[in-house]
Amino acid sequence: MAENRTGDVEAAVREHILLPAQEMAKLGKATQPVLTHAEGIYVFAEGGRRLIDGPAGMWCAQVGYGRKEIVDAIAHQAMVLPYASPWYMATSPAAKLARKIASLTPGDLNRIFFTTGGSTAVDSALRFSEFFNNVLGRPQKKRIIVRYDGYHGSTALTAACTGRTGNWPNFDIHQDRISFLSSPNLRHAGNRSAEQFLDDLVKEFEDQIEALGADTIAAFLAEPILASGGVIIPPKGYHARFKAICERHDILYISDEVVTGFGRCGEWFASEKVFGIVPDIITFAKGVTSGYVPLGGLAISEKVLARISGENAKGSWFTNGYTYSNQPVACAAALANIELMERDGIVDHAREMADYFAAALASLTDLPGVAETRAVGLVGCVQCMLDPTRPDGNDDDKAFTRKIDERCFELGLIVRPLGDLCVISPPLIITRAQIDDMIAIMRQAISEVGAAHGLQMKE
Ligand code: PMP
Repeated sequence: MAENRTGDVEAAVREHILLPAQEMAKLGKATQPVLTHAEGIYVFAEGGRRLIDGPAGMWCAQVGYGRKEIVDAIAHQAMVLPYASPWYMATSPAAKLARKIASLTPGDLNRIFFTTGGSTAVDSALRFSEFFNNVLGRPQKKRIIVRYDGYHGSTALTAACTGRTGNWPNFDIHQDRISFLSSPNLRHAGNRSAEQFLDDLVKEFEDQIEALGADTIAAFLAEPILASGGVIIPPKGYHARFKAICERHDILYISDEVVTGFGRCGEWFASEKVFGIVPDIITFAKGVTSGYVPLGGLAISEKVLARISGENAKGSWFTNGYTYSNQPVACAAALANIELMERDGIVDHAREMADYFAAALASLTDLPGVAETRAVGLVGCVQCMLDPTRPDGNDDDKAFTRKIDERCFELGLIVRPLGDLCVISPPLIITRAQIDDMIAIMRQAISEVGAAHGLQMKE
């Protein structure tokens, strides 16, 4: 029975679904593993096979699966009031959630705008920066500065901000007002020290502002760590120096915390507590509901808003919204999720697990085929390279890594395949013993695939 169902699901996917990353040559041919249910940090595939959810879905399943508190909150809200127009009506879940999130964000980022996910959160933040400068009477101050390797979503505007160049071909995403800076990837530092590398990145930003003119630049949009671009952790001090430059030139600093927010880095938000800055806007999604239902949003600084509201409003209306802004069921799910995280101390737990997780990943560096590991909080990666002296991102390493991912899957661990990286960002409830289980599977998979490639154990 179960097999028949699985076969039927696979067939329907092959025949009718266009995937978010679809190799067109394989349209209608390739299948995806079918999941049937999930519990805690585990998801279950056909025949009841249990897999550790290494990437927590898409870095989102913070509290894990099967949490009755969230399910009950969703069911209750769907029964009493599933929808209300955000244009005309207020509801308790959205109001309470906005107040709650304002209490968790740094500084004066106390005004919340809710969206349908991460892309619409970033899109709205960028549209806000447009609106802000138009109301201020600076229509020429519109450019957006982003980085190579950054990822911010799949709307037309956020896709134009993606610095993952592999996503560019065959989409007409380029916009003149968007400018790119180098990726803050320390692996590109060559023989420069981290300090020199940072100085060069800062100089590049300053030079770009000078060349374009600060009076043409609205916003700097940056993830605290570049997640989908390769778990890239900028050099120490990067965020503070870029923030100071933004302040000097009246450029809005938009911190895209769609991945890093809601405990992923061991704090509710990473910008302030992990990286030492209070941005002007923070975008969030994913972990806000632990993925149970879609929701995203942005938190905006009161100081910033004061410049274009009240007597400074000049008759303007902020007209950017969604049918599902303030969606009551989604907001109820988020409230239950946050309550659960607070009750069980899940963010503290994630912070306490961080060193153990980083050390566990680092223990894999004795294996041939492992170039390095990186981690912040409970997001990390293993960079797999057949020959670490070759440049990053070559096709042989990608194929090697894909085999490791496949072997992990056979052994009971989902790993997010990302070029030559195995990305691990588990549910935040993961225990030490479960981290050990993940690492044991990775060790076996990397060893076996390495041996099949003829790699010798390191000295
Ligand atoms: N920003 C970042 C940093 C992301 O990683 C993502 C998605 N992975 C997005 C924005 C877009 O979010 P969504 O897929 O929910 O639209």
